[in-house]
Amino acid sequence: MNLAESTSPESTGAGLVLVPVGSIEQHGPHLPLDTDTVIAQAVCETVAARLPGTWVAPPVVYGASGEHQMFPGTCSIGSDVLRSVIVELTRSLRTWATRVVYVNAHGGNLTALRPAVEQMVGEGHDVAWLPCETELVDLHAGLTETSLLLHLRPESVRLDRAEAGNTAPLTEILPTLMAHGMAAVTPNGVLGDPTGASAAHGAEVMAAMVARVEAGLVGSVGSERR
Ligand SMILES: [Zn+2]
Repeated sequence: MNLAESTSPESTGAGLVLVPVGSIEQHGPHLPLDTDTVIAQAVCETVAARLPGTWVAPPVVYGASGEHQMFPGTCSIGSDVLRSVIVELTRSLRTWATRVVYVNAHGGNLTALRPAVEQMVGEGHDVAWLPCETELVDLHAGLTETSLLLHLRPESVRLDRAEAGNTAPLTEILPTLMAHGMAAVTPNGVLGDPTGASAAHGAEVMAAMVARVEAGLVGSVGSERR
């Protein structure tokens, strides 16, 4: 069920609420700024369609994207604010929902998401977070994310402007990335290579991410609660 379109009485006694967590940040010359948000929302909606009684809240659109800040268009609220958003949102949602699960599509949000969820579990809330595993498949604005957007919202992809970025493994570039930001490791903002991206591959990745989130939801039900 779509929370934003529902009425207050309709959401009374809600069980599981999924909250997509994305970002507004540069995704190279060919992908839209809201790429992560689009992915997180699509994963939540697909999972909810398969699990009756599951709600999808409006996404946390802004994330912690400081490492992308040198690229125009990036809108970052930083880790401290994002952490507060997750804490307050959890307390608010939990006054009427049994369980809250954040579904995150931007690795940079983890610095905030992990401790916020930990704090909320400590306060006795039934809350968890699960990743859309895109960043593990391909780092940033490469084959994976380009394929996902071709599948989810093809009109947003400027495929004629797609070009390869830095294709070195993350372990190799991470120190420079952490110290000096994305521009220091990739002038065009891409980590990976979008060449060969397709909607069909995007559908496959999407199905895999949905399956992982679904498994994570089932696997964690009740397990953290005493
Ligand atoms: Zn992304």
